[in-house]
Amino acid sequence: MPETPFVQLAELGQQLEQTSKRLELTALLADFLQGLAPEELPPAVRLTIGQVFPEWDERALNISWRAVQTVLRNLTDASPAIQEEIYRQAVDGGEAARMLLEQTRSQPIEPPPLTLLEVFHAFEALAETAGKGSQTRKEALLLGLFRRATPVEAKTLVKVISQEMRHGVNEGLMLEAIARAARVKPRLVQRANQLWGDLGEVALTALTRGENGLKQVELRLFRPLKPMLAQTATDLAEAFERHGGHLALEYKLDGARVQIHRQGDQVRIYSRQLADVTGSLPDVVAEVKEALGVEEAIVEGEALAVDQQGRPLPFQHLMRRFRRKHALAETVAEIPVQLHLFDALYLNGKTLLDFPYQDRWQALEAAAGQVKRVRRVIPTTLAEGQAFAEAAFREGHEGVMAKALDSPYTPGVRGKAWLKLKHVVTLDLVIVAADWGYGRRHGWLSNYHLATRDADTGRYLVVGKTFKGLTDPEFEAMTRRLLALEQSRRGSTVFVQPQVVVEVLFNEIQASRQYESGLALRFARIACLREDKLAVEADTLQTLRQLYEQQFDYKGRRGEG
Ligand code: ATP
Repeated sequence: MPETPFVQLAELGQQLEQTSKRLELTALLADFLQGLAPEELPPAVRLTIGQVFPEWDERALNISWRAVQTVLRNLTDASPAIQEEIYRQAVDGGEAARMLLEQTRSQPIEPPPLTLLEVFHAFEALAETAGKGSQTRKEALLLGLFRRATPVEAKTLVKVISQEMRHGVNEGLMLEAIARAARVKPRLVQRANQLWGDLGEVALTALTRGENGLKQVELRLFRPLKPMLAQTATDLAEAFERHGGHLALEYKLDGARVQIHRQGDQVRIYSRQLADVTGSLPDVVAEVKEALGVEEAIVEGEALAVDQQGRPLPFQHLMRRFRRKHALAETVAEIPVQLHLFDALYLNGKTLLDFPYQDRWQALEAAAGQVKRVRRVIPTTLAEGQAFAEAAFREGHEGVMAKALDSPYTPGVRGKAWLKLKHVVTLDLVIVAADWGYGRRHGWLSNYHLATRDADTGRYLVVGKTFKGLTDPEFEAMTRRLLALEQSRRGSTVFVQPQVVVEVLFNEIQASRQYESGLALRFARIACLREDKLAVEADTLQTLRQLYEQQFDYKGRRGEG
């Protein structure tokens, strides 16, 4: 079978952009998948949703927008004025690349045409290019690719590089398409993806081994699972109501989530982003080896930095532990980390994901040995819950988690089963643009445009701007960081790739006509940078809409009553 030309994937992207209807999107995707050779399936599936590697894979492209622009300049002869005009008109970097090459290409497209696998291998080579002189080598590799790319292919390449596909195909839709292409039950595909965390490999199994193959998919030790996530609740009464009174409350510790895999003496620890952080937490590794009561386990918990008295320290301190791949003995001694377990996903050969929360907790109690568990209660009254939440607050913790007693563990899902209750509501938003400051902030990008992700379309929509919350050195650092992510400029505004996630405090969510999102934050200010979060994990427009509506449980709406 001849290799599939890359242009087919690029054309598919164009077709996907033309519709927002779920059925049409899945049909287009399924047809495409059915035409591929087995070895093409994993890269094709990932590239279509803007990924090159599975999430647990440590490799990353690390290609700056500047490098892309340099390559495009090499292939075109547009005057600065024309370039500026194209960047102004284009909705994103991918479109700009397509328009530039279509209108101002200075050399013919080099043969032979790119194939899908070649593009994937080129991306692998780019990710593996590191160290001294890597920027130049990366640009050379990119130039080699773009020389052979048609304008739509170049658009797709740029979209993958910037992880901004904008065609509304998210993981959920891709799962449906895989099920349709393989003629298997969507639930099986979804489950395999939860266990493996790699749509590419799931597609390969579904399309080559069908339903039987999918049924045999099992959780694998040392292959991290996506964490189960929580929705926000505004108060305990809401949590009681949503869980019908059948809930446990746990302290919500402000540390870093860790997923610990153990097989005998082998222990690996994964972060919330599925990165391997074993080297940063030698003390936790030692504790697990010595104190965990079972030989084979996948357990989850929060690693918390504490002071000499064992009181929790702000999150920034913990980040210092993660800054190095291998923590130095001094840092380990200076910033002790405590592990508090809260879930068990696998114990001695048994997968517990489908067990109700309460059974998993009991299994965890039995297996944890000397390792601490988070404090928790099963409150029988609201007052008892409130007393527990107040104790969490007094002891310096972030809030509480309210977990439905009968809920299974659903990897990667932000469902209703876990609710988080923080003392202040904050949102994690993405900086998509910034304005040059004036006066004291002259020379810095200081007014940040904060965006939420529309989970339906994947677009980032602005909900507010702020210049509050950063110190002067932080402004300077942020300016450098944003300039490296620059995509275009208009007036005094610099538009950037959506990558920097910040935690934002605010007083109220208002309806807005000014923003396309329809919502605006009142008195937004930055609480901290969320280095541990990717833009796709920022709070969604859907969450904001939900919070907006919830406000009216406590106050009146204008124009009503
Ligand atoms: P946040 O910004 O609130 O940490 P998040 O998007 O990282 O949110 P969520 O699932 O929304 O993750 O909130 C739960 C987070 O709180 C977990 O990721 C975990 O790091 C942390 N956490 C602290 N204590 C607990 C607990 N007892 N159970 C579950 N998660 C806990």
